[in-house]
Amino acid sequence: MDSQVISLAERVRQIKPSPTLAVDAKAKAMKAAGADILNFSVGEPDFDTPSHVCDAAKEAIDSRFTRYTPVPGILELRKAIVDRFAADHGWQYEPEQVQVSCGGKHGLYNMCQALFGPGDEVLVPAPYWVSYPPMIQLAGATPVAVPLAEESNFDLDPAILDRYVSDRTRGIIINSPSNPTGSVFSGATLAAIGKLALERGWVVISDDIYDTIVYGDEPLPHILDVDPRLKDQTVILNGVSKSFAMTGWRIGYSVGPKHIIGAMNKIQSQSTSNPSSIAQKAALAAVRGPQDFPVMMKEAFLPRRDRIVEALTAIAGVSCVVPKGAFYVFPNFAAYYGKSFKGKVIDGSVAMADYLLEEAQLATVPGAAFGADAFVRFSFATSMEIIEAGMRRLREALAGLS
Ligand code: PMP
Ligand code: GLU
Repeated sequence: MDSQVISLAERVRQIKPSPTLAVDAKAKAMKAAGADILNFSVGEPDFDTPSHVCDAAKEAIDSRFTRYTPVPGILELRKAIVDRFAADHGWQYEPEQVQVSCGGKHGLYNMCQALFGPGDEVLVPAPYWVSYPPMIQLAGATPVAVPLAEESNFDLDPAILDRYVSDRTRGIIINSPSNPTGSVFSGATLAAIGKLALERGWVVISDDIYDTIVYGDEPLPHILDVDPRLKDQTVILNGVSKSFAMTGWRIGYSVGPKHIIGAMNKIQSQSTSNPSSIAQKAALAAVRGPQDFPVMMKEAFLPRRDRIVEALTAIAGVSCVVPKGAFYVFPNFAAYYGKSFKGKVIDGSVAMADYLLEEAQLATVPGAAFGADAFVRFSFATSMEIIEAGMRRLREALAGLS
């Protein structure tokens, strides 16, 4: 008998591969083939993991800490996370309220699987991080994008929320500072979201993965500080990927009500089991140890942010909100849509990002991937030299459109 093409599950047909990782892979392949690519695509710190963290991993290997650990992670690490939350925010949690997972992404995936199902709707402020809608869809639920306006610095206008809420709404994902905008939700916005969440019994997912990268002196508002009554219905996502330049180690953590974390542990026990024992020891050194590394990174990112924003806003027709946190800028290139290069019309962010990659060897991520087609995302977690060279190429590339 001839071999058959095996059909795939319906759920996989609904989603696409992560566009951020896809652009990064394409840029790296072009670079390996000899192209002079300047990579502004994937969001990861351009710093090495600090030595004391690497040493802890070496020690874990040398002492043969190489077996299964408890599914939610080693108790020491969960305790360290609880202690860090208490020290940094004054929040009181118990280790049973913490799950350590294979990266922050996996924590969010577990959360969606544990919380949402068919018929449920989840509010996702847009521009959103690329993986929120697919993760909600993989749980069988429906993401509902709530638009954020560039004119309001991508803060959410609570007055419009009503239009997107239904009796199927089960929760909302907050990401402040945001990937891709770098914007921060104000205390007033968080209070308004919190009020609705309390009234309607929503779960609040607070993705705090960029909370160590906040520019300026103003404290970062957090929904749990704005309204502590939300603690029983909020799950916090964080991790060491961004704060300790540990993207490859794959350690993230979720903190929230015991029954939600318990449900997530069931899913983790039937899927990945514990995250890597060695990476957990490394993360322990990061969370327990000195906290000067994220501060050093933030100080290094600040002049890069200032320079890239200055260069972008100096280009005719380009507008750009100044990011208050994270390491992304999200300039608006809509003024260039409709123009062409060699007969090819730039009809949106995908065509623009393709044009920049093919003609200027600049790797960026199209705003469409974040639910905002007017924009293109640049990560400035790269050197000042690359920023300078990249902005020169961008100016020339945009000027080359007619
Ligand atoms: N949330 C946001 C907003 C992110 O940008 C990332 C980065 N990948 C994550 C979560 C997950 O991080 P990781 O899986 O690398 O720990
Ligand atoms: N969060 C990063 C980004 O947006 C890493 C890639 C990913 O996990 O999607 O570029």
